[in-house]
Amino acid sequence: MSISQAIENIETRYTHQPEFVQAVKEVAMTIAPLYDAHPEYSTSKIFERLVEPDRIIGFRINWEDDKGEIQVNRGWRVQFSNALGPYKGGIRFHPTVTPSVLKFLGFEQIFKNALTGLPLGGGKGGSDFDPKGKTDNEIRRFCYAFMRELHPYVDKDVDVPAGDIGVGSREISYMFAMYKNLTHEYGGVLTGKGVGFGGSLMRTEATGYGAVYFLENMLDAQDDNIKGKKVLISGAGNVALHAAEKATMLGAIVVTVSDSQGVLYDKEGFNQEKIDWIKAQKSEDKPLADYVSVHGGEWFDKQKPWQFQADIAIPAATQNEVNEDDAKLMVDNGVKYVVEGANMPLTADAIDCIREHRVHYAPGKAANAGGVAVSGLEMSQNSVRQYQTSEQIDTRLKEIMKNIHDSAADASEQYGQTDDGYIDYMAGANMVGFKRVADALVAYGILN
Ligand code: GLU
Repeated sequence: MSISQAIENIETRYTHQPEFVQAVKEVAMTIAPLYDAHPEYSTSKIFERLVEPDRIIGFRINWEDDKGEIQVNRGWRVQFSNALGPYKGGIRFHPTVTPSVLKFLGFEQIFKNALTGLPLGGGKGGSDFDPKGKTDNEIRRFCYAFMRELHPYVDKDVDVPAGDIGVGSREISYMFAMYKNLTHEYGGVLTGKGVGFGGSLMRTEATGYGAVYFLENMLDAQDDNIKGKKVLISGAGNVALHAAEKATMLGAIVVTVSDSQGVLYDKEGFNQEKIDWIKAQKSEDKPLADYVSVHGGEWFDKQKPWQFQADIAIPAATQNEVNEDDAKLMVDNGVKYVVEGANMPLTADAIDCIREHRVHYAPGKAANAGGVAVSGLEMSQNSVRQYQTSEQIDTRLKEIMKNIHDSAADASEQYGQTDDGYIDYMAGANMVGFKRVADALVAYGILN
């Protein structure tokens, strides 16, 4: 069966899972040159095998809110592929979580994790639970209940969840406590744990910092650099704010962050003091718009950041936040680099639009791999029961991001996708990630 037939099958079988189909098509459409060079992949039906998760575990989560009322949510863990290591990937708590969203995230995670070069398989989990407006007690009860249901399926050598949207260090701590309580085992079953009880230094910063390290490599490949560049960032979560922080440290001028309520624009750029203020405000669940009365700048209700002139855009909010019109705005406003901090923030049409205009484009599975990479380092530190310094982890993170950049750029060149200096990072990253997993599957024979 050809890849195009396989895509057709996926589209028919999973019409009700649009995000998953979108993620599969993006990979499928770029790996043809690799497939042609490796006939063993079609013989072994690697693509057909990789689009079906090893298994999906679904469960119900009963928990009690502050009024004593019983609430019922749905939870899943998609164990996609353990070809390269234990299933690895975050847990998302958000009302938009569905099997389609988790399958797209899990599918992307396989190749992202492969790109890090660390021994990590791919998976993803979550719940349609909405943490917004919940008290700390409610969050704790929900996290305990979630882990009570999930714990038989995860283990440090089997499946190692972490955070994602709606799941940060507070939630990981509650889930870790429940796992420890149920199994009597203290280990590396989750990453993103607090520093001081098994967590790695720099894990919180890693995704955002890593995205900016990736960007520096892209700029370097074009004989350019980050100093003085104007940057638009969407989102105001962990990835967005740490990307803003690192870009600012390196001399860029970050002029926007945003949330579901609107966009904050500060033409002076956010310095560290302003970023710290935003971090504190968001962690207390207070409005981003309050910034204007403290630091100046402008607030645009219910708008996105792409209307402003800039050199670089880092969408770091959520999937499909950038549509074709947004992409056109970016192009018109002079954006030359788009670096995905979130997972699949651009729709397929938006990707086509920026690539047609030769905007340099780093897909999330390459650019935001820094988070899971430091999760991989957390797992090693847990295994040897010794911890590394921030400097050691930061050095490793920089190396890993450079390796991902260089291997994607090399594959783009090797398979004829680089055109007059324009590197096809999307094709390159997909081919490198896919090849690592495919070679393992071929070696395993029919199992897996
Ligand atoms: N949720 C993050 C991601 O999308 C991190 C996953 C992890 O650390 O396992 O890659």
